[in-house]
Amino acid sequence: MIATQLATDSIAITRTFDGIEEAAHRIIEQLGGMASVTRGARFALLKPNFVAGRSAETGSTTSFALLKAVAEEVRACGAEPVLCETPGTEFDREATYTILGVEKFCAENGIRIVRVDPEGGDQDWVELRPPGARQLRRFHVPRFLQEACLINLPVLKTHVVSTMTLGMKNPMGILPRPDRRAMHTFGIDQCIVDMNRGIKPDLTIVDGSVGQDGEGPLYGDKADLQVLVAGRNSLAVDLVCCQLVGVKPHDIPHLRLALEQLGKPSWTLVGEDIGMIKQFRLPKQKALYRFIFWLMYPLDYPYNWIAERGKHFCTTLYGTGLVGTRPQINEVSCTRCGVCVETCPLPNVIDLKTLKVNYKTCQRCLLCYEACPENAISVKGYSGTRRPS
Ligand code: SF4
Ligand code: SF4
Repeated sequence: MIATQLATDSIAITRTFDGIEEAAHRIIEQLGGMASVTRGARFALLKPNFVAGRSAETGSTTSFALLKAVAEEVRACGAEPVLCETPGTEFDREATYTILGVEKFCAENGIRIVRVDPEGGDQDWVELRPPGARQLRRFHVPRFLQEACLINLPVLKTHVVSTMTLGMKNPMGILPRPDRRAMHTFGIDQCIVDMNRGIKPDLTIVDGSVGQDGEGPLYGDKADLQVLVAGRNSLAVDLVCCQLVGVKPHDIPHLRLALEQLGKPSWTLVGEDIGMIKQFRLPKQKALYRFIFWLMYPLDYPYNWIAERGKHFCTTLYGTGLVGTRPQINEVSCTRCGVCVETCPLPNVIDLKTLKVNYKTCQRCLLCYEACPENAISVKGYSGTRRPS
């Protein structure tokens, strides 16, 4: 390991042509080595993007290869790698972990999983009140973070609600759901800026090994960027990512607000200066979809008074099978071969007798849709999704 001090204004770019793990080790070295990130901390909290059960190959989630390399670097510095992540509110954490194989991967690679109570509470959470915040004036982070350095591992992709999701948005996954509900309700873009006044990762490595454009963050088009971008300043990292995919930062509302309120950071590029890799197609902003998506969060406040703990308005709504991207079996084309049932990573979601999908437990990974040999499964939904790639 190289133990020189990490320059705070350095941003590194490297391609993953020789493998994601190799590229990850290289980019950490380019930034001065992991010891300058952990700086004697006992723990390193790894925050991937596991927003839902869609594999890294789709460009939706952080690749295991990147996590593995980062965990190795952390351990070599004498710190323990710890993973903490809660998927989007409409998804179940344990089911998401099962679909992605998170438990097995972490067990094989010596990464401890910390399961904080996603609904909040004093036991697992500590409150932050970042000075200068305009909307998200107080929020909570895992208590555990007080003893750990934070390594932020987002994916380079578009987002139908926030236009892009990169380094600045990714820490939302370590906030409890009540705070995430507040962020959506009071304006996601301003709240992302506010959150970044309180959460400053010690290192951000953006996983652009695949990435996604169009109707991301789950069902967009695979971008196949083959790049990693890393640095300490999340805004600077995000601005460099925008350059690589031909996106103007002012077209991304939370980046525009960050530039206005936090100021434009300066940085020195280390590693490869590669110009634009691909012109990203930004999601089409369907006003009605955005409004309906937003409405789920304010409605969750009164819903919480009557619902049992852990139940949210959006999970109930998605459970009806009337909204959200979801698989549906066409009885006419289906031969009842059972491939979809065998492919589904979760038990008892598809009923082969009735050809119905249980939308209360289905996590919308679409593995059944991709596996069906008869093309008898269609994808319904109101998220602007095209046929998923
Ligand atoms: S895989 Fe397709 S054809 Fe086979 S049972 Fe499922 S829906 Fe029917
Ligand atoms: S039914 Fe299909 S979309 Fe739902 S969890 Fe199973 S494989 Fe994934």
